[in-house]
Amino acid sequence: MRVLITGGAGFIGSHLSDAYVARGEEVFVVDDLSTGSMENIAHLKRHPRFHYTIDTVHNHPVLAELIDECDVVFHLAAAVGVKLIVESPVRTIETNVRGTEVVLSLANKKKKKVLVASTSEVYGLSDQVPFREDGNLVMGATTKGRWSYACSKAIDEFLALAYWRERKLPTVIVRLFNTVGPRQTGQYGMVIPTFVKQALAGRPITVYGDGKQTRCFGYVGDVVGALARLMERDEAVGQVFNIGSSEEVSILELARRVKKLTQSDSEIVFVPYDEAYEEGFEDMPRRVPDTTKARSLVGFEATESLDGILKKVIEYHSGQ
Ligand code: UDP
Repeated sequence: MRVLITGGAGFIGSHLSDAYVARGEEVFVVDDLSTGSMENIAHLKRHPRFHYTIDTVHNHPVLAELIDECDVVFHLAAAVGVKLIVESPVRTIETNVRGTEVVLSLANKKKKKVLVASTSEVYGLSDQVPFREDGNLVMGATTKGRWSYACSKAIDEFLALAYWRERKLPTVIVRLFNTVGPRQTGQYGMVIPTFVKQALAGRPITVYGDGKQTRCFGYVGDVVGALARLMERDEAVGQVFNIGSSEEVSILELARRVKKLTQSDSEIVFVPYDEAYEEGFEDMPRRVPDTTKARSLVGFEATESLDGILKKVIEYHSGQ
């Protein structure tokens, strides 16, 4: 099989590339290196079954050629990270909406199956925890930049589903919950690499808000395994799946665990959201997935515990 991964030099994309190369498949990556990096795919560069193109998904002729070459497309290229999104909303909206439009319209010409990576962010301010795929999406005000990410991804979902219903392009949508592991950078605001780097450097560990907000952190290896299995199943077409861990932890508790596991002397400090992001920033108080659907179809289980994941991330950053 020949697999195209947009955003393949990113954190999740590079792990997906590893998985397919290991399975003996031919992997094609397109990435503009805006948030991805060559370092993530350096170990694959000389592999005979790995090919990469540095370009944006907006480049029609390049993408058309790559889609032509491949049997299936994983569309992971997107603006990611709350910090980046708040700082660059134009880029977020344009990358996420236009990029998906291009990928779907070109894939449709050749009827190549597409998996679109969406996000748990689409549940927005919903309090129907754990979130189910058929639950309501509750968006905040358009004046709050954060929600542009959720809305742009919700449009991507609508478009992918519309292509399936109206044009019979096979599409699968995954809503990725907080996904973590080696190669994730803290540069765009992600909490675990940020805390680990702070703790290892003996700098203050910055808990935003009161730290009572909760998240579930899934291991990237579990996540990419689920993506590959969903891609194989006909029943997944035209469907949306939550993918993530169900081990819920508050951000304050996370800071304590990172401090303990790194044996760091760092102090834990609280930073108001307005200072961390922007005036009037709204956070999601709880984010927990219901993964029954993915479990029933492809046996999805999050196998790594939070402590196990933290140890791997600490080891990765200690060696950097
Ligand atoms: N967070 C934090 N300190 C940081 C970075 C993030 O307390 O240095 C918090 C953030 O406000 C959120 C949670 O950690 O409540 C997860 O943030 P992340 O950006 O990793 O992902 P999100 O779940 O917001 O998409």
